[in-house]
Amino acid sequence: MVCECTTEPAGKVIGRRTGRDFHLQRCIVCGFLFVNDPCTDQGGAQAAAGTVLDGDDNSEEFVGEAPEREATIRHYEWRGVERVARHFLPDGGKWIDYGCGSGGLVRFAKAKGRFQVMGYDVGAGADRAHANGLPILCKAELEQHAGTFDFATSINVLERHADPVSELIRIRALLKPGGVLFFLTSNTAGAPETLNEWSVLCPDIHVSYFNYVSIKIALARGRFEQEYPRWLPGLSDIVRHKALRYLGIRKRSFLEKAIPIRPIARLLAKRGHWVDYTVAIAC
Ligand SMILES: [Zn+2]
Repeated sequence: MVCECTTEPAGKVIGRRTGRDFHLQRCIVCGFLFVNDPCTDQGGAQAAAGTVLDGDDNSEEFVGEAPEREATIRHYEWRGVERVARHFLPDGGKWIDYGCGSGGLVRFAKAKGRFQVMGYDVGAGADRAHANGLPILCKAELEQHAGTFDFATSINVLERHADPVSELIRIRALLKPGGVLFFLTSNTAGAPETLNEWSVLCPDIHVSYFNYVSIKIALARGRFEQEYPRWLPGLSDIVRHKALRYLGIRKRSFLEKAIPIRPIARLLAKRGHWVDYTVAIAC
């Protein structure tokens, strides 16, 4: 919930991963859309669907050797987010990837060497990344770093939580005043009338869906002020990743690179409202 006002039923949808029916509920004031009867065991839901919890979709991410990781289109998203970080922190700084999954973005940004980057998540992916030597913090370590980060990322994470405001409050506590949160999450402005046809909808694992009003309220409750930059360096790569996913392409290849993806991605991003809100400043 975001504003705690009255909600009404918003229809029934089928979870593509579990085949189960889910009932959606919408706030009549802010339009926040949420799954009323989520899978209580998200790990179990994902295991049933043949995936493991890691970001929005683990199918592109490998925990194997570097060349395999480089081969997936997720590389574009990481490159884009690192570019965004450089925009806000041209001289480097301390960066937390909150909800880092198995740490792909942390690994990428660390290799670039510009930032003191760390990750936080719970689950097998994060444990494995930590065991492999990535700077993935546990909850107790995270608290020791409260108020010290210049930059935080939340990449396709808020939708995983039934109480996204609490997540924002936790992220805010990690940032310095004036610190920047860069986030990617859903926007129901890009949804078709029939929600079942919305490619973004994944009620099996994603339980919270925002719009312009509800994200603003959620950020304000987390003590963030929203910013609306016209465009950011790095967003091209981020929408490229999303567009390739939308087109069902998961691997980087000569063929994939031959697609004139830039205009297609811009068009799809505009139509789907993919990156209309991405930045908030810690008050
Ligand atoms: Zn509301």
